[in-house]
Amino acid sequence: MTASEKLNFDSIFRAYDIRGVFGEDLTEEVAARIGAAFATFLGEDKEVLVARDVRLSGEKLRKALVSGLVTGCNVTDVGIVPTPLLYFAINHLQKDVGIMITASHNPPEWNGIKTFRRKRCFYGKDMEKIKQIAKKVDLERLGKKKGRLSSYKGIIQEYMNFVVDKIEIERRLKVVADTANGTCGLVAPFLFKQLGCKILTLNQNPDGTFPAHLPEPKEETLGELKNKVVKNKADFGVGYDGDGDRAVFVDEKGNVIPGDLTLLVFAKDVLQKSKGAKIVYELSCSMAVEEYVKELGGIPIVERVGHTFIMDKMIEENALFGGEKSSHFYFSECYGADDAIFASLRMAEILSKSDEKLSEMIDSLPKYPSIYEKNFECPDNLKFAVIEKLRDRFKDSGLEVLDIDGVKLLDKDGWVLLRPSNTEPVIRVSAEAKTEEKLKNLYEFAKKELKHLLKGG
Ligand code: MG
Repeated sequence: MTASEKLNFDSIFRAYDIRGVFGEDLTEEVAARIGAAFATFLGEDKEVLVARDVRLSGEKLRKALVSGLVTGCNVTDVGIVPTPLLYFAINHLQKDVGIMITASHNPPEWNGIKTFRRKRCFYGKDMEKIKQIAKKVDLERLGKKKGRLSSYKGIIQEYMNFVVDKIEIERRLKVVADTANGTCGLVAPFLFKQLGCKILTLNQNPDGTFPAHLPEPKEETLGELKNKVVKNKADFGVGYDGDGDRAVFVDEKGNVIPGDLTLLVFAKDVLQKSKGAKIVYELSCSMAVEEYVKELGGIPIVERVGHTFIMDKMIEENALFGGEKSSHFYFSECYGADDAIFASLRMAEILSKSDEKLSEMIDSLPKYPSIYEKNFECPDNLKFAVIEKLRDRFKDSGLEVLDIDGVKLLDKDGWVLLRPSNTEPVIRVSAEAKTEEKLKNLYEFAKKELKHLLKGG
C-alpha cells in the first residue's frame, strides 16, 4: 500500500464539498494533494482565489492547499472572509475559481473545503475526478512552484461598497446580530452601522474555538440572541453560521423564524419589485412557498437541496431569488450567492419600509402542520438503495412521486419526503399536510414503508 492509499479521501469528499476532522482524516498532506489535484483538473494558468474562515487549523490548511495549487495555478489569497465574499470576489475580480477553507457550522475541530467557479459550480462528478487525481499526486511536484502567489487585502471594503449601494434603509432600526465568533463579525456589524441602523452584537470577535456556542444558528444556540432582541426592544435579530452563508432570523418577540417563511418575506419583496419573477426553492420547503409565490404572480421553481443545485438553477432559469428551508438565501444581485449578510441587510430594508413588524409579516403567511427531518439510521452503503426501492414501490402503487432528491410522495393535501443524508448514515423524513390527521397518516405510512425496507423487506 502506498502512502496516499492510507489517506482516507473517500470519507472527506461529500456530495458538494470536502469536510473532515483536522489532523485525522483532513491533514496538511491531504490539503496539499487536493490543491495539486485542482491545479491538474483546472489546467494551466488558471486564476484561483483562496480564502478561509476563523478556524484554528485554517492557516495550516491554507498553506498546504496553496502549495499544491501553485504547481499549476496563479493563486490570490483574499484572507479571512465569509464564504459569500469569496464568491463575490471571484465575480468582482473576474477570476476563474475560488476555494474556501471552512467547515461552515461544524464543531471547531472540523475543517473543510468548499469550491466555487464563476457562473457554474463544481459538481459531484468534478469532485470525484479531483479526488481520484488527489490520490495519485506526485509529492515531488509540491514545492516546485510554477504559478504566481499573491495576496489581496481589499475585498471586505469592496464588498461593503458594492452592498451599500443596493440597500436603502428608510428609518433607523435596531438590530441584534449574533455572529457566533465566525467571519461575519468582520463585516456585518460595520455594514449595519454604515446604513444607519443601531446595531447590537453578540460574539462578534472571530474565535476559532467558538467559545459561546457552535456556529450553527438554530433554536438551541440562539437563546442569548432571542433574549437580547426582546430586552432591547430590537426590530429583529439575526444569527449567522460560521462562514456566513446561513442567516436565521428572530422576530421582535424573540421567535426564531423557519427558513421557508423567511424565504417568503424575501420572495414577496422581490415580486413587488419585479413582477412575474422566478423564485427557486427546494423540495423540503413548505407547500406554502409554491402557493404563495403563485398568488403573488411569481413563478416557483423546485430544485434539490444544496447550494450547488440552487445556484445553478438560478443561473439556468434567470431567477432573481432562491431559498432553502435551512435558511440559505440566494440573491441574483449578489451574483446568485447564498449571502447571509446581504439577506440580513435586505431584511432591515424591508422592515424599514413597512408599517408591519416582522412577527406580523410572518403571521400573515400561510402555515400548515409539519414534521421536519426525523432521522432513521441506515448504513451509508445502503441508504441510496433503500430510497430507490421506496421510489419503485410508491410508483408501482400508482402514487405521485417527485424523485429529484430522495423520494417525495405528493398527495392533494400534503406530502412526505424521504432523503438520504449526504453527510450522515441516516435517512431523513419530513412531511406536511393541510390537517393534523392527514399529516399523521402520511408520516406513519412513510415510516412503516421505510422500516419494512430497513429490516430487509
Ligand atoms: Mg455555512
